[in-house]
Amino acid sequence: MLVGTLGKSIGCSYISKSFILASRRCEPDFGRVREMETHSSKLPLKHSELPSVSRNISVLSSFDVDCFPKNEELPLPLKSQGTFRNPWNSWRDKRLWDILRWLTTTKDESNVPKSSYELDQLLPVHRVNRALLEKPLKEGKFRLTWLGHSSVLAQFDGFNILTDPVFSERCSPFQFMGPKRIRPVPCNLEDLPPLDVILISHNHYDHLDKNTLKELLRSEKHRHAILVVPLGLKSLLNRLHLDTRTCQQIYELNWWEHVDLDGKLRVFMTPAQHWSRRTICDTNRALWGSFAVIGSSVKFYFAGDTGYCSVFRTIGRYLGPFDCAAIPIGAYHPRWFMSPQHVDPEQAVKIHNDIGSNFSIGIHWGTFILTNEYFLEPPQLLRNVLASNKLHLGSFQTLRHGESTHGPYSEVQIH
Ligand SMILES: [Zn+2]
Repeated sequence: MLVGTLGKSIGCSYISKSFILASRRCEPDFGRVREMETHSSKLPLKHSELPSVSRNISVLSSFDVDCFPKNEELPLPLKSQGTFRNPWNSWRDKRLWDILRWLTTTKDESNVPKSSYELDQLLPVHRVNRALLEKPLKEGKFRLTWLGHSSVLAQFDGFNILTDPVFSERCSPFQFMGPKRIRPVPCNLEDLPPLDVILISHNHYDHLDKNTLKELLRSEKHRHAILVVPLGLKSLLNRLHLDTRTCQQIYELNWWEHVDLDGKLRVFMTPAQHWSRRTICDTNRALWGSFAVIGSSVKFYFAGDTGYCSVFRTIGRYLGPFDCAAIPIGAYHPRWFMSPQHVDPEQAVKIHNDIGSNFSIGIHWGTFILTNEYFLEPPQLLRNVLASNKLHLGSFQTLRHGESTHGPYSEVQIH
């Protein structure tokens, strides 16, 4: 195990040059990893916690000097009294008054039809093609399958990666109340190919669903999957009473830290402008983030849940350009209230450009009604924004629930 230097703690807003490496059995295949002096900073993952599954896994905290120049400053979350905070001026905390104003003065324009027949016409669900998902992909090819809201199965370079899996009926602490899905899940968890990586962007109920995670982690089929989560989420996941094996598969990272899998896949946790809360007394006690997943021939970006800020250009500069991305386009109205935490389609296209995405799919819409815009407005607005920016409509698409698309972009096909 090698332990490098952490330039500044997460209590600071910026990190300069440093990394920590804990490796097991093999070195990653991503070029040179420089050895640094030992430092007493606490690793997000202790060597003893490495999973017993037969995979080669390296955890690299902070960043690898091959990716990030030493003299560059990268934003880190602010931290005080055990809570995290966004480091950008574009963030604004919500006051109770804002929430009351939103709830009492903004008209709900979602207008979701009551009739399931009408919904089937407007927002059809495509049963996931299980055989298609099992088909191996050639080098340089990817397959993205939208499973509703922010759940995406990304496949490339021999890996199956699942983002923010939510398969429950409601995204809520309770299954008898709270936002209920307007479209059914397009498959069962057992219909998915054996997973390698599960990414969780933050702890909000529409992104972290304990019932889905329990089922996934207890499944024999997905027993080799690792979970990559932001700082502060592991204790919550441990409280889900998962067994010892599955708890050892959870990797908790700060922004810019990464995990290497089998020496062939590097998963970076990257920043997002958002917040966290699971109960009334744990606001911002866990971090939030996005992910850059770098394979041997394909790069994928998962934006998680985010408002727009300057960090996407930084992500694009150091980890991009990306072959494909999943970027939120919904839950944005009213803007005066939602803009710090949720992008609208115009800002989603900015992220697409900032990170250098060659092909993106729009997520975080059409599944749970969380805000006030018309439920079909996000894809319509997305097309308008692409047209007005003279971008090809095919470069940033929305899929039907359960639909798969293949790339690279020049050959994108929908199934
Ligand atoms: Zn959220």
